[in-house]
Amino acid sequence: MTINVLFAARPERWDIYEQPLRTAFSEAGLTDVHLATDMPPETVDYIVCAPNGSVQDFSPYTRAKAVLNLWAGVEDIVNNPTLTQPLARMVDDGLTRGMVEWVTGHTLRHHLGTDLHVLNQDGVWRKDVPPLACDRPVTILGLGALGRACGEALAALGFPVTGWSRSQKDVKGLTCLSGEDGLHKALSTAQILILLLPHTPETENTLNADTLARLPEGAVILNPGRGTLIDDDALLAALDAGQIGHATLDTFREEPLPPEHPYWAHPRITVTPHIASETRPASAARVIAENIRRGESGEPLLHLVDRDLGY
Ligand code: NAP
Repeated sequence: MTINVLFAARPERWDIYEQPLRTAFSEAGLTDVHLATDMPPETVDYIVCAPNGSVQDFSPYTRAKAVLNLWAGVEDIVNNPTLTQPLARMVDDGLTRGMVEWVTGHTLRHHLGTDLHVLNQDGVWRKDVPPLACDRPVTILGLGALGRACGEALAALGFPVTGWSRSQKDVKGLTCLSGEDGLHKALSTAQILILLLPHTPETENTLNADTLARLPEGAVILNPGRGTLIDDDALLAALDAGQIGHATLDTFREEPLPPEHPYWAHPRITVTPHIASETRPASAARVIAENIRRGESGEPLLHLVDRDLGY
């Protein structure tokens, strides 16, 4: 029987995803798939979606077995009251590798003090040798698909890595902590702090005046997670007081970050425009196809979102 798959992301994404999805369906042995951007809601078996897509009201999709998100973050869809179907988020090898590269690159920038030399080609011989990675403790808040991969990559470079998550983890080569005491301990050693938590009511303002004060003086913050993880005013105050040495921010409460936002002009903030990582069509299409294959054969879906936890 034909499997009807509705592509409900923004129209410009159709050109990017159509062929990779068709290829992945074929490779997964899904030979009879009708993939389109429009079809009668009551005939749809699976909805592939992304934020600001064409479907906001899921109630007419009475036959749909799952909603398959193209994005890792699900805060824009998880609380949609019309969504009664199972929701799977994106865990994509390409997306993970992109995040590992962004996090590793920006960690090394701050660890090596690269700016000092790159931005000062002025004839001054500044012979300050950076410490080795083994003397630069790094903490990652969030040990999910992305946090764990970044932690393992940084540990492989020699950084002592502490990770913190809601449930206690055991990751080889990382010091894993959980709970409030665990958070305080994880912050207390973090010369470089990386935020890879999702946006949920519990994670809002994880970095606030209290938690910023628990970091070692001069700590560097990288936030490729979500803008809501940080109390912006508290971060600006901590930067101005010297408590925080630098913040490299990829995600913001409002995106694009408005030109007048103080983050743009701050000398010790680096803004990157939500480019830390993106879903990669070829590998993501394989994840979508695998979930449809599972759905059709009655196997549990991968990467299901816990609606109560919000991620
Ligand atoms: P994930 O696999 O769901 O992992 C989330 C991690 O956060 C888990 O370790 C989870 O703990 C932990 N966590 C959640 N709530 C917590 C809480 N209240 N207290 C302590 N820990 C908590 O997500 P992911 O795939 O790694 O992605 C993480 C986030 O990265 C996404 O939600 C998205 O916001 C962001 N992201 C950004 C970009 C970008 O380009 N900037 C790209 C992709 C994703 P448990 O392990 O115990 O569940």
